[in-house]
Amino acid sequence: MLTFYPRFIRTFTDLPGHLSLLIHAWNGCNMRCYGCHNDAELIAQRPIPHLQLNAEQTLERLAGSDTMMDAVLFSGGEFLMARMAELECFLGRVRTIFNGKIVILTNGTFPEKLRRLLELGLIDGVHIDMKLPFHTLDPKEDADVFEAILGVTPSARLCRDILASVELVIRHNSRLSQVRTVRYPLLSEEFFEQIASYVGQLQRKFDSIVPYFLNPYFPPPR
Ligand code: SF4
Repeated sequence: MLTFYPRFIRTFTDLPGHLSLLIHAWNGCNMRCYGCHNDAELIAQRPIPHLQLNAEQTLERLAGSDTMMDAVLFSGGEFLMARMAELECFLGRVRTIFNGKIVILTNGTFPEKLRRLLELGLIDGVHIDMKLPFHTLDPKEDADVFEAILGVTPSARLCRDILASVELVIRHNSRLSQVRTVRYPLLSEEFFEQIASYVGQLQRKFDSIVPYFLNPYFPPPR
């Protein structure tokens, strides 16, 4: 069941040029990334019955906020962990009650759900992480790199899925989207150069305005 964390955050910075409402789904994540800022509250801690909001309660709280906010961002954990039918229904309802833009944040591991949401026009933009050069790393030989950064055992499928999602976002070509990488201190510059080069090729191929950001690493607060 699609479940949400009760603390909604107003933000000027997550979507440049917009005053947005950031809402976290509380459905866990299929990764355990190094230095994840959401781990303690949203991943290690399972939804607490008297705190969690269901989809209906979240929609009630969101209704009317478009008088102050011009965008809503849905994050996680991993927002696309939820079942597709629930995502479609929920985002369809958001469209009817909220006049602003709808943007989701994803780690890229659900390209088919992402494709469908874009095709249905239920989202206006996507912020996607490309944490590693998935096009050059080998899931077997470089397993230690994947495990150190993503906290999961890698597979060829994982790499394919994330690369497919990155391509979908760049091809969709929304000014509200972005591809970003955290400059993890464990990784050498070569990794970041390979990611930037890959994204640059896709930007040119699709004549896309979707920007790429290499963001600084901030350790999670203790
Ligand atoms: S994908 Fe995002 S939410 Fe999930 S563990 Fe990694 S940083 Fe945290």
